[in-house]
Amino acid sequence: MGAKQIWLGVFIIPCGIVNTYLVDGGADGLILIDTGLPGKTQRILDGIRNIGRRPGEVRHIVLTHAHIDHIGGLAELVKLSGAEVWASAIDAPIVEAGRGFRPMKAAPELIPGLMFRLLSKKGAAAEPAQVDRTFKDGDVLPLAGGLQVIGTPGHCAGQVALLWLGHRVMFVGDACVNLFGELNSPIGYEDEALGRDSQRKLCAYDYDLACFGHGAPVSGHASVKMARKWLPHPDDDHGHAEHVKASVH
Ligand SMILES: [Zn+2]
Repeated sequence: MGAKQIWLGVFIIPCGIVNTYLVDGGADGLILIDTGLPGKTQRILDGIRNIGRRPGEVRHIVLTHAHIDHIGGLAELVKLSGAEVWASAIDAPIVEAGRGFRPMKAAPELIPGLMFRLLSKKGAAAEPAQVDRTFKDGDVLPLAGGLQVIGTPGHCAGQVALLWLGHRVMFVGDACVNLFGELNSPIGYEDEALGRDSQRKLCAYDYDLACFGHGAPVSGHASVKMARKWLPHPDDDHGHAEHVKASVH
């Protein structure tokens, strides 16, 4: 399967277990968000051609975080496109080394936990690639009218989400996933408490489309769906209390 348009100016290119995204930045060219696993670059190139564009039109590659399934195709894609590479200052050294991934623990939930056991390969490495520009939490990248950087550590210390300003689109990275029709934890956490904070942080923004590293995008009031999953539900407690009271009388 090649690329598919999911929003005005946004395309998903599924690469096996992980998604990459293309944003049509107009005068800024195409912006590729994440680069898949090593050895899967052909899928991304096919996806670009699929929508009638050329790899050379990718002028920027923005990484949500430095895990092997997000940086694996970077070096090859840079050689083919000449794109400028953007990564968080915290994760840039891992991108430039292609190794040195921090240890993660399996998420406590069943499905992500199982996937962690299936997918985590020790000793995996990516071809090193130079990072041209680093960013940090709170920055706005001057691309496609503005990509706001939202630091979302926990799954990965340098992870960020990207909010496409004026377009109501959030690129979530792996702060959470949407697998089997359900929002859920990423497969693992470097620091679970921080990861939970990051999930709640993403509920404070207003967006219609949420794009995940793993699983299908969520459209239509995506931020409300995120809040329903990740924020405490005062109404539920109230409803529960009412129900108990009613059964007592
Ligand atoms: Zn990850």
